[in-house]
Amino acid sequence: MYFSPAIANMPASGIRRIGELAAARPGTITLQVGEPDADTPANINAAAAKAMTDGHTHYEPNAGIVPLRKALAHKVTTVNRVPADWSNIVVTNGAVEGLFTVLASVAQAGDAVMIPDPSWPNYSMMAKILGVTEQLYPMDTRTGAIDVQVLESMVTPATRAIMINSPSNPLGTLLSQENLREIYDFAVRHDLWILADEVYDQLVFNGTMVSMGRVEADALGLPDDQIPAASRVISVYSFSKTYAMTGWRVGYLVVPDALTDALTKIQEPVVSCVNTPAQYAALEALTGPQDFVTEARARYGERAKLAQRLFADAGIDVTAPDGAFYLWVDTHGDAQEIAEKLVIDHGVAVGPGPAFGPSGKSAIRLTLASSEADLTEGIRRIINSGLIE
Ligand code: PLP
Repeated sequence: MYFSPAIANMPASGIRRIGELAAARPGTITLQVGEPDADTPANINAAAAKAMTDGHTHYEPNAGIVPLRKALAHKVTTVNRVPADWSNIVVTNGAVEGLFTVLASVAQAGDAVMIPDPSWPNYSMMAKILGVTEQLYPMDTRTGAIDVQVLESMVTPATRAIMINSPSNPLGTLLSQENLREIYDFAVRHDLWILADEVYDQLVFNGTMVSMGRVEADALGLPDDQIPAASRVISVYSFSKTYAMTGWRVGYLVVPDALTDALTKIQEPVVSCVNTPAQYAALEALTGPQDFVTEARARYGERAKLAQRLFADAGIDVTAPDGAFYLWVDTHGDAQEIAEKLVIDHGVAVGPGPAFGPSGKSAIRLTLASSEADLTEGIRRIINSGLIE
């Protein structure tokens, strides 16, 4: 029987392979997963349970329940300083579904999209499913900076959009305001959409997060609350990382006026709406106490310091993260082979860099969303393996 070559030819995830090797070896320290180690806070769970008993178990509007969209518009305008009305908010089945529907809305087979290298592997998988050509552009793996001259050399008339991610998975770096502005001006020159993945926006422990949506408003000289009439920025956020809600599947988009109809419409055949009790849980997450987030942010910052110190003591250089919960370590060797040896021979699972793009061929990614004890022991095993120069 026939089935789509786009799916048949999609490579298996290198991170999953490490996960399978780890699962077969009890006692392995797992530093390869990309999710918080904490469970969802109790007040959020209780809100979902209440929503169910209150009968909120039906289909809801494609773009999400109105109170949640209103609360999200308030959040993005006050926290991210991205101008938005609640009509610009679309609640999605995790950021992942938002990214996919945006990509499907702005590019079709034969078009091209610029994707960071290294980056979260799902961007590239989405492009492959849609038959969209990937134009992988380099990020400086030490600073996360993007060289706009390189973007200029790669862009073609087929390019429709550029994806950016700050704080970065896997680097943990932030894009500076100046760099964001350069990227914005580049997008204007070539009439591109900008997909700004800011799912780690609340987990910044060093420096200040600047949102691309704010940079656009400033570039156009608009006051804080004025929505750009011809915006080209689509901002992507999530409850997953901020509130330890990865399994709930709630994310949201800030969508320019020109795209709100399309992105609302596309929800119907794809998911119809996001799980209704999960939307009420998300509303509680946003409007309830925020100590969980403050504490998680501080914890990741402490762990980043701890991990950097342990590697520095061993004379190993790492990329200093500003946010998210990852540490990028250059092994100066064949990273896939090293990651496999680390799990098989040394009992520590890490993300192999090649899974994040060609620039990761000699790097590994560690998650800081593990206990201090696991992180310390895992790093000890990595250093003692002698596999990293
Ligand atoms: N964007 C980035 C950069 C991520 O790292 C992840 C998850 O790992 C996502 C989006 C997806 O988040 P969600 O759980 O909301 O789909």
